[in-house]
Amino acid sequence: MATPACIVWLRRDLRLEDQPAVAAAARQGAVVPVFIWAPDEEEPWPPGAASRWWLHQSLAHLQQELERHGSKLIIRRGPSLETLNRLIQETGARAVYWNRGYEPAVRRRDDEVNAALHAAGIETQNFKDALLFEPHEVLTRQGGPYRVFTPFYRACLAGDAPPSPKSAPRSLPAPQNWPESASLESLGLEPRIDWAGGLRAAWTPGAAGAKARLKRFLDQGLNDYPTGRDIPGEQGVSGLSPHLHFGEISPRQVWHAVRKRGEAQTGRGLSDAGQSYLRQIVWREFAYHLLVHFPLVTDQPLNADFARFPWLEDPDALRAWQRGRTGYPLVDAGMRELWSTGWMHNRARMIAASLLVKHLLIPWQAGARWFWDTLVDADLANNTLGWQWVAGCGADAAPYFRIFNPVTQGERFDGDGAYVRRWVPELSALENEWLQKPWEAPRLALDEAGIELGRDYPWPIIEHAAGRTRALEALAEMRGSAPETSRPSKRSKR
Ligand code: FAD
Repeated sequence: MATPACIVWLRRDLRLEDQPAVAAAARQGAVVPVFIWAPDEEEPWPPGAASRWWLHQSLAHLQQELERHGSKLIIRRGPSLETLNRLIQETGARAVYWNRGYEPAVRRRDDEVNAALHAAGIETQNFKDALLFEPHEVLTRQGGPYRVFTPFYRACLAGDAPPSPKSAPRSLPAPQNWPESASLESLGLEPRIDWAGGLRAAWTPGAAGAKARLKRFLDQGLNDYPTGRDIPGEQGVSGLSPHLHFGEISPRQVWHAVRKRGEAQTGRGLSDAGQSYLRQIVWREFAYHLLVHFPLVTDQPLNADFARFPWLEDPDALRAWQRGRTGYPLVDAGMRELWSTGWMHNRARMIAASLLVKHLLIPWQAGARWFWDTLVDADLANNTLGWQWVAGCGADAAPYFRIFNPVTQGERFDGDGAYVRRWVPELSALENEWLQKPWEAPRLALDEAGIELGRDYPWPIIEHAAGRTRALEALAEMRGSAPETSRPSKRSKR
């Protein structure tokens, strides 16, 4: 008699290589791979528009990969528990396996599903997959969570090395009868009005696209990563964030590939560039550590003092920022890159986010929501960490009194203007000297570049010095003290 099938509940682990739940199910016998679309269960953070687009493509690739392994992807709409129960009846499955998720709503939902299936006599197993270090594996000496990155990073490196990645099972045994599947199109993940041309041009979702991107980075980006990672006009970063978010590549695959390449280059230990890259991968781990230990951080500042911060409501300024029309070229380039490709370089994310929360005093949550809808790598842990870090209210955050100057940041990190010229083409003919501050350009330089400020490109939405003073006054108001203009400004570690 054939062994009963095992359902693999696929979520954000859309690959077959180094996939613990798939591997464990394949060892048992017949496998029924299932994806259930239940965004309501992820409220208040269901996937945004750009993420849905990515998810559609990623599921389409997974369908093909499963077919090559003699299997199929069964697609259903939620609720998850009801759907799993129905599939158990239809297939006679006796077990459901999945890889763990860490978002507060997902953990609650998974706990409920686990308890209900268990009570019904169904075997359940869940696996560590999306992280290298589980949030409860790395704790301070007192047994609590870390709030500062560097000791967390050291503690991660001091523990066992992440296991080597495993290959995909050669084939996935099929169940006796396949249950019916909804079509991928019926989930309505792709936009009705096609705005996704820029995303299609920029990305190849799916496990094969992820591996190709990793290879390109190892060949062309890794060596110069420590400096290249800060230059938004160059391809100095890996672009793996959406692939990691959707689990098209595992962090173990990335970790070991970078180690291997970095060690091969030095012939001894890991190269400095390799270390610098793996440090960023551990920032991702830190973000999940914080999300699990402080689940309210998605909406509330980790530093409770900031609940008293005098934020402003300014819908016009928010709209100008969203559209990349703030008059600060580096910020506008970043916001337009985001709108066009669903991704923004980390340096531009920091400067754009800083302008919103510090110069414009708009709550970081409004920026986080916009990123959530527009980023293809929108990730609750990383997005929350990034926004709280910039706003100065998170763990190991940039102090609030350190206020990025968008002009000097542009001159330093986009000195040749490649990034601004690409994304803000109306400024492309302006000389480098004025490119990051067109309002200071002499009339003749603007005329020669065919720019009239206020017509072709906006005046700055707020003057930098005035914005800085206003931000420091707001901080003083929150603290009930004098502005902290004279504090020493230590350089950021990031
Ligand atoms: P690389 O430089 O190649 O880094 C490799 C990987 O390390 C990334 O893919 C990512 O998984 C991880 N990583 C790198 N930097 C960080 C970081 N600062 N924090 C956490 N993990 C990091 N990242 C997201 O994945 N999703 C988000 O929604 C997100 N929102 C952000 C919002 C703000 C305001 C800021 C300042 C940063 C945000 N980041 C987010 C972090 C970072 O900008 C992106 O991870 C990075 O730009 C992705 O590009 P990459 O894959 O080429 O990075």
